[in-house]
Amino acid sequence: MSDIVLTAKNLARRYAVSRGAFRELATVNALADASFTLRRKRTLAVVGESGCGKSTLARLVAMIEPPSEGSLVIDDIDIARATAAERAVLRPKVQIVFQNPYGSLNPRQRVRDALEEPLIVNNRGGADERRNAVAEMMEAVGLRPEFGERYPHMFSGGQRQRIAIARSLMLSPDILVLDEPVSALDISIQAQVLNLIGELQERLSLAYLFISHDLSVVRHVADEVMVMYLGRAVEAGPRDEIFARPRHPYTRALLSATPVADPRRKKERIVLTGELPSPIDPPSGCAFHPRCPIAVARCASERPGLRRLGAAEVACHLAE
Ligand code: SF4
Repeated sequence: MSDIVLTAKNLARRYAVSRGAFRELATVNALADASFTLRRKRTLAVVGESGCGKSTLARLVAMIEPPSEGSLVIDDIDIARATAAERAVLRPKVQIVFQNPYGSLNPRQRVRDALEEPLIVNNRGGADERRNAVAEMMEAVGLRPEFGERYPHMFSGGQRQRIAIARSLMLSPDILVLDEPVSALDISIQAQVLNLIGELQERLSLAYLFISHDLSVVRHVADEVMVMYLGRAVEAGPRDEIFARPRHPYTRALLSATPVADPRRKKERIVLTGELPSPIDPPSGCAFHPRCPIAVARCASERPGLRRLGAAEVACHLAE
């Protein structure tokens, strides 16, 4: 059996937005081009600044919205072209965990009802089976089953994220999209939740798409890393390769801003000037060129495609 559970090719997502009365609609290229695979027991981390397209990518993979272009294949079915019946079969296979666990739980719903709900909606099991499944899942995420009678506000932030993870697993998915799952938690709790996420992946053979802006977290959880800039992947490859030999100037700048554990190791901080450009009117050529510290004339007119360098793929004319 192949360990590939999802294949995405040239995914793009565009939105039409108003520019005011009597003006034509503008097009926002929230995601311009992303290709990757997700594998069982493996984590692909997607990193980049706010507005780089990573959350749009999360919503496409979680089937919250369809791509404008490209294919997203699960079980040999392209979600973009699937029938309603096929989508209904595929939907439980991909679940999403959001950054804010309190926002994703109904404050008026007891925890055991919140966990049982996906089973009821999908006609899974009888009442006793469902109750047992809820108790088992609570234990699996490190919560006592009797806590199921409580409401979300009676838990700490870390416990609420455990509940959100438990709910996402009730339908036995193959893929979890984790959208900044620990960034709202205290630093002391983050490690516990990350360890839980790692244990569950191993035990349940899950594939993870892990969205994060925090490279310290990514270094801890990722097998592969995809760095995004203005809706496109600019560098992708195995975690150790990306962290040890970043080739794209944007990846280097992101990594230079990450704290190192060893105070004797000094790093030169690369400070990027300027803001992320608007996806309504992206720069010509390489979209990074207005902020790139090593840009040359060619960069403004010719967009570099991803090319293989070592174990990674890099989109930069000058990368070696
Ligand atoms: Fe910088 Fe040019 Fe490489 Fe883009 S292609 S990252 S502008 S050097």
